[in-house]
Formats: sequence, structure tokens, C-alpha cells
Amino acid sequence: MFRPHPFSWVPAGGQRHATTDAKPKSGYHGVRVRTLCDLRIFVEDSDIAWLWPTCPACNEGAHELAEVPMIDAAPGRLELE
Ligand SMILES: [Zn+2]
Repeated sequence: MFRPHPFSWVPAGGQRHATTDAKPKSGYHGVRVRTLCDLRIFVEDSDIAWLWPTCPACNEGAHELAEVPMIDAAPGRLELE
């Protein structure tokens, strides 16, 4: 599967986190991952879960991994990709 960056977004624990764990063939749902903010939590892949707010620490970490500077003053503008 094409993966533009070395991490993936996963909804878990009420927030959207990013993880560098490899994506299982059947997807992340129900899988315990390690997030960029250093949590180990189970992914809850549902329509509603994808609407959870982005974890600030993971967002920052993801920007670093993607080598994209953080955009101030526009939180939530880059949610839909
Ligand atoms: Zn996080």
C-alpha cells in the first residue's frame, strides 16, 4: 500500500493519534498501537472516531516526520486529506 509518510493516523481514546506501527493487512481496528505521543492504545476505527480531535502531540510529531512546518493560527484546517 502506498504510504506517503512513515506514519498513519489512527483514532483511539477519543483523539486522532499518529503511529509509526506497520498497518496490519486487515487494518488497525482493534489493534494496539504505539502512538507518537507515546501511548499504547487500541484503535477504534469507526465513522465517528474519525471525527475526534487531533492529538496535539501526535500532530506535532507527524509534522516533524513529514518535514512539514506546523501552521499556526489554523487549527483543524488540515484535517481532511
Ligand atoms: Zn497522540
